[in-house]
Amino acid sequence: MAERAETTKYLLPEDRIPDSWYNIAADLPVPPTAVLHPGTHAPIGPGDLAPLFPLAIIGQEVTTDRFVRIPDAVRDVYRLWRPTPLYRARRLERALELPPGVRIFYKYEGTSPAGSHKPNTAVPQAYYNREEGVERITTETGAGQWGSALAMACGLFGIELKVYMVRVSFEQKPYRRALMETWGATCVPSPSPDTHAGREILAQTPDSTGSLGIAISEAVEDAATRDDTKYALGSVLNHVLLHQTVIGQEAREQMALAEAWPDVIVGCVGGGSNFGGLTFPFIGDHLGGRGEPVRVVAVEPAACPSLTRGTYAYDFGDTGRLTPLVKMHTLGHTFVPAGIHAGGLRYHGSAPLVSLLYDQGLIEAVAVKQRPAFEAAVLFARHEGILPAPEPSHAIRVAIDEALRAKEAGDDKTILFGLCGHGHFDLAAYDRYLSGNLEDYEHPQDEIDAALAGLPTVAI
Ligand SMILES: *Cc1c(COP(=O)(O)O)cnc(C)c1O
Repeated sequence: MAERAETTKYLLPEDRIPDSWYNIAADLPVPPTAVLHPGTHAPIGPGDLAPLFPLAIIGQEVTTDRFVRIPDAVRDVYRLWRPTPLYRARRLERALELPPGVRIFYKYEGTSPAGSHKPNTAVPQAYYNREEGVERITTETGAGQWGSALAMACGLFGIELKVYMVRVSFEQKPYRRALMETWGATCVPSPSPDTHAGREILAQTPDSTGSLGIAISEAVEDAATRDDTKYALGSVLNHVLLHQTVIGQEAREQMALAEAWPDVIVGCVGGGSNFGGLTFPFIGDHLGGRGEPVRVVAVEPAACPSLTRGTYAYDFGDTGRLTPLVKMHTLGHTFVPAGIHAGGLRYHGSAPLVSLLYDQGLIEAVAVKQRPAFEAAVLFARHEGILPAPEPSHAIRVAIDEALRAKEAGDDKTILFGLCGHGHFDLAAYDRYLSGNLEDYEHPQDEIDAALAGLPTVAI
């Protein structure tokens, strides 16, 4: 049995790719919050969303069915990289001199073609659009991870894609753009002269570096004003978190293979999709009376702390106030975070489903600064080999701290964290860290207060 004791990767065969997505809305203690019309503040119906999304996606946004079947054509594409591996971090455990009762596991999503979990939802979104005859999709991207995942998916299903990429990233990260173009997408810097929203900002601020909120306004306007075009979002919304639950369903089976069960699960939160994807199957098992309780910790950057320092309120998803209003932990739609390197975590709000669980006290949240996150990432890379993206490095920091605390206290503890992407496009950030030029940043309270003062007033 010595061989088995040293297993490093727990792998599943292709036929264990889940055949359904798991929907936590079926197991919540309170009903999910309604989505409101941005003008009237009345709950919106499917017709309001039809200019933006295909009907199948709108249905998934509101369904309370516990399981939603994954179409065969989507599972076929998932086979390119799923099931993804679950690792036991044996070398990291040894480096931390952990006792045998303290164990660290991680579920690795960096083996997808785009290098993160984003293709798990990009592929079904492209598929449902093609099924409903949509010829063109628009989207926004910050650091480029979502844009590249959707470019790959649209390429596979023969759909044209236009990506509005936050200008500062467009200029600083040319390789993500080259990847999108290789997969056949068009990518322009945002704000752009191509939309009314973009032209308005450029008229006021010709050298605007852009923001995710501005790029969303541009992509939504483009889709809403053309009959052949719909819009796709890579995080935050219920259907995106639903698609990501392939991660947690596989992880649950792989933990059983390892004859272990997590006492605590840790994930990084930008909009909340990789976190929800990994943790919801575990949380739902408990809420639905099918499994043991598990502690769940959401980790956000100190520079963009929507859970730990934001407010639970209705807010817009974009700067231009074009999107519907959703109830979420938010820093306000006018909030512009500092230019930290975890680009995927720079969003002003958290997914409504993650926010609801946090509000109900069912999950915990902590904020981590970027230098301690990079310190953990470098330690991880030196012992586990894999170079983590800056976003999950925030989760690695907390996983390591949990392990060290258990060691100190003499407790047994099994920790599972989400390693949702690799950092091969983030080497400029590693370079800054290694040369001592990376700064910590914590957002000043007066700027958070100012952005929160701009929240819409909603009666319900
Ligand atoms: C996009 C992204 C994130 C943040 O988005 P979530 O919806 O919170 O998962 C985090 N990590 C990576 C690697 C990403 O690509």
